[in-house]
Amino acid sequence: MPMHELPITRSLLDLAIRHAEAAGGGRITDLHLEVGRLSGVINRFVQFYWDIVTEGTPAEGALLHFKHIELEMECLGCGAVFNPEGDDYACTACSSTEVQVVDGEQFHLVSIDLEQDDSTMSEG
Ligand SMILES: [Zn+2]
Repeated sequence: MPMHELPITRSLLDLAIRHAEAAGGGRITDLHLEVGRLSGVINRFVQFYWDIVTEGTPAEGALLHFKHIELEMECLGCGAVFNPEGDDYACTACSSTEVQVVDGEQFHLVSIDLEQDDSTMSEG
C-alpha cells in the first residue's frame, strides 16, 4: 500500500475532529474535500485509510466526498490562463514553458457535516 495517504488521512481526521469540537461536538457524518490534480493524493487510498483511522472516533462511518479540482496554469510570458492536458504544461497560447500553477495543487477540507445530540442542541 502507498504510505503517502496515511499521514494525510490522519491529519484530515485531526482537523475534522477539531472542527467538530469547535462547532459544539457531535458525530461527523460527512466530509467535503477538494483534491487538486497535482496534489498526488489518490482518493481511494484516502478512503482505505479513513476507514481504519476513524475507528472508535466521532468520525467513524463518516462519508468522504471528493471534489476534483482541475489543474489551472498561468503563462508568465503572455498571461494566458489555461488547463493543461496530460503532462504537457506548455502555454496553449504561445507555447512558452514559463508557467506557474494557479490552482490544482491543494488537498483540503472544505466543510464537515455534523449530527448533533438533540440534548446539547436545544434552541427552545
Ligand atoms: Zn503564453
